[in-house]
Amino acid sequence: MRELTYVARRTVEWREVPDPGLRSDQEAIVAPVAATPCDVDSSILAGHGFIEPPFALGHECVARVVETGADVTAVAPGDLVVVPWSINCGTCDRCRQGLTAHCASVPYMAMYGAPIGGSWGGLFSDLVRVPYADAMLVPLPAGLDPVAMASASDNWSLAWRLVAPHLRARPGARVLVVARGSIGLYVCDIARALGASDVLYVDPDPAHRALAEGFGAATAEAVEALEPARQGGFDIAVEATGRVDQLARTVKSLAPEGICESAGNHFRPGELPLLDMYLTGVTLRIARDNVRAHIPDALALAASGTVAPEKVVSDVIDWEDLPSALPEKHLKPVFVRAEG
Ligand SMILES: [Zn+2]
Ligand SMILES: [Zn+2]
Repeated sequence: MRELTYVARRTVEWREVPDPGLRSDQEAIVAPVAATPCDVDSSILAGHGFIEPPFALGHECVARVVETGADVTAVAPGDLVVVPWSINCGTCDRCRQGLTAHCASVPYMAMYGAPIGGSWGGLFSDLVRVPYADAMLVPLPAGLDPVAMASASDNWSLAWRLVAPHLRARPGARVLVVARGSIGLYVCDIARALGASDVLYVDPDPAHRALAEGFGAATAEAVEALEPARQGGFDIAVEATGRVDQLARTVKSLAPEGICESAGNHFRPGELPLLDMYLTGVTLRIARDNVRAHIPDALALAASGTVAPEKVVSDVIDWEDLPSALPEKHLKPVFVRAEG
């Protein structure tokens, strides 16, 4: 089979590797049918990652189950499933606490699309081995489009986690989103659907801002440019830029005892205004997403019809065009494979 491999800045290529096979009765083999780059893949492709190439890329997809081990009961061949970005067993203490990104049964940082905690391949591959099928795979609810939900593996479900629990605790909160890609746009959509009284989306890209306005958000080009009346007024802020200076500006826009969620991946160091944060009373949460625990919640919201993740999909591109099209600049391209 072929595995899309990141080989150098702005360069990916198919590499031929042996087909994966079941190694235990708990495993499944799946074939991605709709896969999309995570926002951090764009940074990797631009040469800003910290892992030396070559490695198999991709950790967001909806896949078709091809083969299951004898002990697998939650999914069957033919099912459409969401494949979470991180590898988790479902039975260790960490997994049972919902800390699925910290599973104790696999190496630290075991994930698809980056060989940090072992090599699990990438989801831009023709076939993928899923080591704990019942624990990891989530059937795609009927009626949801694999193209629209390709990002449920990570960015869509992460966006749910960044804002939904905080809006539940603070109904009608004002939400600031400082972002550069799909995560922030999903957050705007989800925040509006879950009753945020006001959403301000900050992004230098006019096309991104137009999408956010479609989700009912007010927009601004730069967080530096927020008028003073708006600063200091947000109960919830989400930063998804990968830049520490942007995170610093974001926390300065919080209301007293406000909460800031950061999507992380700050590959370069920087400083945070800790004294200002102390004086305001800021809770900053920056955490790798335990995505498997809330993929079902994020899918349920998508199935409710109150959100429109499909609007963030910028391009639908044939699977065979991955090597040429993935390094191009797109907001959220989804690569689809013809089945049959
Ligand atoms: Zn990701
Ligand atoms: Zn585990």
